[in-house]
Amino acid sequence: MSLPDELPPIAPRSPWLLFKVLFLLVATWFTWGTMTRQWTMSVLHNLHLPIHEAGHLLFTPLGEFMHFLGGSVFQVIFPAAFVVHFARRKEWFSVACVLLWIGESIVDVSYYVGDAYKQELELIGGEHDWAVLLGELDLTHHAEALGNFTFGCGILVMLAGLLWAWQQVFAEGKWIEIKP
Ligand SMILES: [Zn+2]
Repeated sequence: MSLPDELPPIAPRSPWLLFKVLFLLVATWFTWGTMTRQWTMSVLHNLHLPIHEAGHLLFTPLGEFMHFLGGSVFQVIFPAAFVVHFARRKEWFSVACVLLWIGESIVDVSYYVGDAYKQELELIGGEHDWAVLLGELDLTHHAEALGNFTFGCGILVMLAGLLWAWQQVFAEGKWIEIKP
């Protein structure tokens, strides 16, 4: 078997390009809404919740402190596994989208951290993870500042993912051959 002498003309590299652009327009609006705190709780909270709860179970053998920390840690490191998966396949647009997910998850955690002092969030049951954790570390009075710092970190990761995803789309767009 031999390769053809001439490769076929370059067609749109991905039929998904339009879908990607539409997705990113929504993601941009969503990131803006998150950045400007247009909602008081993470909109994707219910997506993060089962992963968070699984984290508690997984980290329980490591002791009580890690049990409480495990929920928040796992909801952030779980999507990171997808980064590794997509990076191995060099699917950079997917990596960028997972960064958006990780950033949003960090923002989700930030609301919980920031609530440790006031404890106004409605919990599904059990103790307030971050009230326990910050209480243990004697940092409860800094809950709001720590929450804001975590929020900022989450936003930075979201923005990095978003900009990278747009850059991928523009790079891909250059390969569309417009036929006369
Ligand atoms: Zn929890």
